[in-house]
Amino acid sequence: MNAELITSLKEVVGKGGYLDGDDVGERYYTDPRGVGDNQPSLILRPATTEELSEIMKLCHAAGQGVVAQGGMTGLVSGARPEDSELPISFERMNGIDELDSRTSTMTVQSGTPLQAIQEQADAQGFLFPLDLGARGSCSIGGNLSTNAGGNRVIRYGMTRDLVLGVEAVLADGTIISSLNKMIKNNTGYDLKQLFIGSEGTLGLITKVVLRLSPKPRSQSVAFCGVSDFDSVVNFMQHMKSGLGGNLSAFEVIWQSTYNLIVDKVETIKAPLSGDYAYYVLVETMGGDPARDQDRFEDILGEALEAGLIEDAVISKSQGEIDDLWQVRDGMAEAMATQQPASGFDVSLLIGDMEYFCAEVDRRLKAAWPEASVYVGGHLGDGNLHLVAKAENVDPQPKDAIDTIVYDLVGELGGSVSAEHGIGMAKKAYLSKSRSPAELALMHTLKQAMDPKGLLNRGRVFEMTPS
Ligand code: ZN
Repeated sequence: MNAELITSLKEVVGKGGYLDGDDVGERYYTDPRGVGDNQPSLILRPATTEELSEIMKLCHAAGQGVVAQGGMTGLVSGARPEDSELPISFERMNGIDELDSRTSTMTVQSGTPLQAIQEQADAQGFLFPLDLGARGSCSIGGNLSTNAGGNRVIRYGMTRDLVLGVEAVLADGTIISSLNKMIKNNTGYDLKQLFIGSEGTLGLITKVVLRLSPKPRSQSVAFCGVSDFDSVVNFMQHMKSGLGGNLSAFEVIWQSTYNLIVDKVETIKAPLSGDYAYYVLVETMGGDPARDQDRFEDILGEALEAGLIEDAVISKSQGEIDDLWQVRDGMAEAMATQQPASGFDVSLLIGDMEYFCAEVDRRLKAAWPEASVYVGGHLGDGNLHLVAKAENVDPQPKDAIDTIVYDLVGELGGSVSAEHGIGMAKKAYLSKSRSPAELALMHTLKQAMDPKGLLNRGRVFEMTPS
């Protein structure tokens, strides 16, 4: 970057709006996949949309590429700077501008942590239902850019379903303000969707109008042991129909993963023995505390009688609810103990899942007889998380394992990324899930909105030079 550009950029944000030299901490080039290779010499931390717009006007004129940074919790290395990229951190664009109780909306700045939004909604009698493990450090802008999923998608949808309006800055500095609060607004293209899930490649999100839900008055959780996969599927259908719209989570853990969690995560109290083929955490949230728990127990009793589940532990207090969720949340920690290994976040039709897991195991063991696979996920959404490794093999054949798993996902018409995005980590496999015509349209959109390739370049796909 030339000295003149650096001086102009610093003038735009003022003192406190940038970090340089030794002040650039490791967190600006580190994500859950590790410390990046490129320590940036300058970080910009704009405080307003207007400042960001001025930054992009200067970068556009100079042909300077930028990378957007939220909480640095993304799992596909979308926010770690590449060589010569200028990181723009949204950490100072942090705050809730408004909670409008009549429209059940909240307008927030994109650098606001997810948990701060959840807490503010809760304090005012609402629920913001997006929830994931990184809630304390991830930012809502990052949640939008990856269209994050998490634990309550089965009832409330993904991030995309929780957004009514977006303000964003384009590659040339233009501000697109679509801070719509209306549920219905069919006036031409829905421009906010261009910025949701596009991983910062088409524009930089600065503000968001979120859609809030009424705060539930009751919550019940059960942890169940199930003997076979068909019963898991039938149990889910039984709970869906029995609870109506109140089913809020249906999380499944495979036996080897459950035993790994119990073994590796010290804080967990094992709710059931390790003898079942599958474990299900099922949750309901309702509006009638006096009756909801009884209804939940009745429906579980029916499932037990019908042989859909073998055993169940039902929460009796908030503490017990938290304990049961800790088992599910322990999956990430338990899987992390298997490093170095390959991690996956795939979507499949529910009817293909049992075959998929057996076939991954078979193909891996054909190559490495002592391969291990750990599976769990959001079954109601068709989303599995897997960790796979070849035991006693050094170095770990990560690329070969990736190819085996993604080839099978492609054969089954599944998605190579269900909720984490593509970033840098998965772009080699994007074509397993997207047709040439779809990829060509993505290129056309990128060329139209960012012809110089300045925004998060190389994320999702490589841009073809115009
Ligand atoms: Zn997940």
